[in-house]
This record gives sequence, C-alpha cells and structure tokens, in this order.
Amino acid sequence: MCKNDEIIIDITDVTAQGSGVGKYEGIAVFVPEAAVGDRVLVHIVKVNKNYCFGKIVEIIEPSESRCEIDCDSFSKCGGCVYRHINYSSEAQLKQKRVEQTMKRIGNIAAPCKEIIVGEPLRYRNKAQFPINENGHVGFFATHSHRIIPCEDCLLQPVNFYEISKVFEKFINDFSLSCYNEETGKGLIRHLYIRRASATKEIMVCVVINADALPHNEVLVETLENLCGNDLKTVVLNVNKDKTNVILGKENKIIYGEGYITDILCSNKIRINPLSFYQVNRDMAECLYKKAEEYAEPQCKTVLDLYCGAGTIGLSFADKAKEIIGVEIIEQAVEDAKYNALINGIKNARFLCADACEAAKKFRDEGLKADVVVLDPPRKGCDSELLSIVAESFSPERIVYVSCDCATLARDCNILEEKGYKVIEYTPVDLFPRTSHVETVALLRRQKTEI
Ligand code: SAH
Repeated sequence: MCKNDEIIIDITDVTAQGSGVGKYEGIAVFVPEAAVGDRVLVHIVKVNKNYCFGKIVEIIEPSESRCEIDCDSFSKCGGCVYRHINYSSEAQLKQKRVEQTMKRIGNIAAPCKEIIVGEPLRYRNKAQFPINENGHVGFFATHSHRIIPCEDCLLQPVNFYEISKVFEKFINDFSLSCYNEETGKGLIRHLYIRRASATKEIMVCVVINADALPHNEVLVETLENLCGNDLKTVVLNVNKDKTNVILGKENKIIYGEGYITDILCSNKIRINPLSFYQVNRDMAECLYKKAEEYAEPQCKTVLDLYCGAGTIGLSFADKAKEIIGVEIIEQAVEDAKYNALINGIKNARFLCADACEAAKKFRDEGLKADVVVLDPPRKGCDSELLSIVAESFSPERIVYVSCDCATLARDCNILEEKGYKVIEYTPVDLFPRTSHVETVALLRRQKTEI
C-alpha cells in the first residue's frame, strides 16, 4: 500500500483513542472518525511498516451506531472522539475496552460489571481555555498546541462560552498581550473556569505570566454583570515558567474568597483552583457510591491514598472508624481538612505527602488499615507503594479507582502476585463523548494472616 492510495475497508475495531480500525491485505488501517460497522472509502495519508493511517473519503455503508454530528469542532479539537456514534454504542465500546485491557495487560480473570453511564451533554464543571496571540479564546487542536476557536462546547455549561466571550472582549478592549509558548513572552496564558454543578457557584481564574493583571476591576465587574450571584470568586494564577503546565503555584484573589463550594455525596466540598476535583460531579457520585460498596467501610480504618480534596474518604466517613487521607498538593490537603471541618467529620485526618513516602512512614509506625483506597493519576502507583500496601498494611480490601485502565490492569496484576485477587471491576463513564473512562476495582486479600 502507498500514500494517496484509495481503498475500501470495513471498520471492525476501535483504538483506545477512538479511531476506527480496519484491515487491508493483512495491514491495519487506522481511520479517525470511522465507526465499527462502517464500510468506507479511505484515502491513505501515511504508511508505516505494519500499519497505516487513512482519512474517510466516503462512507459507503454507514454503521448502525452512527448518529448526526452535532458539533462543528468535532475532529478539530482534541476533546470528543465519539460524537459520530450514539452514546449507547460508545458505552459498549468503553466497556469492551476496559474488559479487554484488564484481561490482556493484567491477566485479570474477574468479571467486568456493566458500565455505569451518564448524561452525555454539558456535564463538565471545568474548562481551561488556551488563548492565542490575537486574544482569541479557544481549544487546542488534536495532538497539538495550535489553538482553534470553538463555539459553545456541548460538554460544558453554556455560561463557560459566555464567560470566554466576555474575556476576549476584555483582552481586546485593553489590548492586553497573550502568551506565546515559543518565546515565553506575553501576559495572558489561560482562562480557567470552574462551576460547582450542585450550587452553580462559579470560579474564574486567569493564568498570567506576571504578578498583576491591569484593569482587573473591569474584568470583575463584567463577570459580575454576566454571572450575577453565581460568580463567587475571581483569581489570578501566576505562572511565569516556560512550560506547558497550565497552572503556577501562586494564586492571587481579586474577588471573593478564592474558592467555590459544591455538594458531593451530601458533603459540602470546598474547591481551590489548585485542588483536583472530578470534572463530572454527577458521575463522581456514582463512582464514589460504587467505591463505598466495594470498600464496605463500616467501622473500618480506611487509608485514602491520592485523596485530592478528600472527597472519596469523606463520602463514607460517617460509616468508617477512621479515614486517613494522603495527597501531595498542599492546597488540596487544606481543602480536605476544611471539608472535614465544615461537614462536622471528626474521624478524618489528612497528610500532605507523596503517597509512597507516606506509606513508608505509616509502615514504620506499624499502621494497619482495613481498607486502602487508591486513586492515582494516569501513570498508576509505584510498585514500591503497592508492595507496602500489600505486604505491610495488608488490608482486607483494596479499592482501586483509575482513569487509565492500562495502568490499573498492570497494578492489579502486581497486587494479584502479592496475594490479592480482583473480585470484580466496574467502568464508570465520567467522560462521555471523549476517549476516557474511569474504572473502579475491588481486590480482596487471599492469604490469611498468621
Ligand atoms: N481521590 C481524589 C483525587 C484523585 S486524582 C478525587 O476523587 O477527587 C489524583 C490525585 O493524586 C490528585 O489530587 C493529585 O494531586 C494526587 N497526586 C499525584 N501524585 C501524587 C503523589 N505522588 N502522592 C500523593 N498524591 C499525588
């Protein structure tokens, strides 16, 4: 096969990133936006030794899962990958992917429970918009830092779009400079918005490459006019580093208290700009309920590692004997402590530390936990941490929450070798229309203690 060839193929599979896959003369052909069940005419754009990439020229026979594409930016921005198929087909693909990954990478025999699905429209409570040099607020194009303009995004609340427009006007009215990633020059880097879904409170955070934002009082006034009482805080985040990490460490409050409060699993949750908070509140509740069901925390000591603002442990603190949370971001730990306080929770304590370092400390103190909750970032847990959890804490149950089923599978495999067994796992779709999916797994100790 050569570049620029045109071939007809049947799409039989989908990658983890949502690209369709077909075969031609034994060679895999990756076709973005093709759906399983499509027969397509494909233009080959790149040929490698064992696989190639193509673009759809014509859909000869559409898959039954296809639906009308309702967003002009689909395929341009790096967000959604499944807007061309209906949501129930997407959910089935995600379920299959989690199950196959757990079996293939982790050699996990336990059953994959049915995926818990959510509302696919406007579920996000957070957006981080890059801004181009002309002052246009947009989105990064797929796999790049090129900024494309975006109209109202269907994953976000409508007022995020309205805020982005008001912000563009503010930049242009005062001819403020915007950051250039190559030169490291320019003032305004990102517009970052959070909205607490339950309380509707809004936080607007402007990431700047300086210590101050000129005319910030005008921005605050405009945002107040637009959002009314829902606007709870406006914060400047200072990031002067030449990096593509969005947020710097320092926040300067220019309006309100510097945080918003949401309600999650009946708890009030304070969220600081730097604290991790699940982007889909409603589905986070479903995820935490499943985590609680797996943890059976009644009268138990629960170690909540990678706890963010404390949300998982706090959601079942009323049933547990004690919750011990560990988190590396200082502001998130402050939020976790405050969240325990405002909800009258007295049996939770939090430590700001690297999870593995904290585990070593707890091991040296002889701590035993009945339940360990693990909710690490995409890269999963250090194997050293898994060893300490399995061999020193030896909890009855481990509840592992993961946003990357490949590292979950790897870590479950390690834990199975250390005397645990995956009992079952459940995918929870916190990110409809995108390639991402969350999974929660229950592991139980097999060896009895001597
Ligand atoms: N359980 C929380 C947060 C999960 S996200 C929730 O459901 O909201 C993962 C969290 O791990 C983030 O808050 C991140 O700051 C934290 N983290 C990342 N690396 C860490 C490390 N080495 N040690 C401890 N926490 C870490």
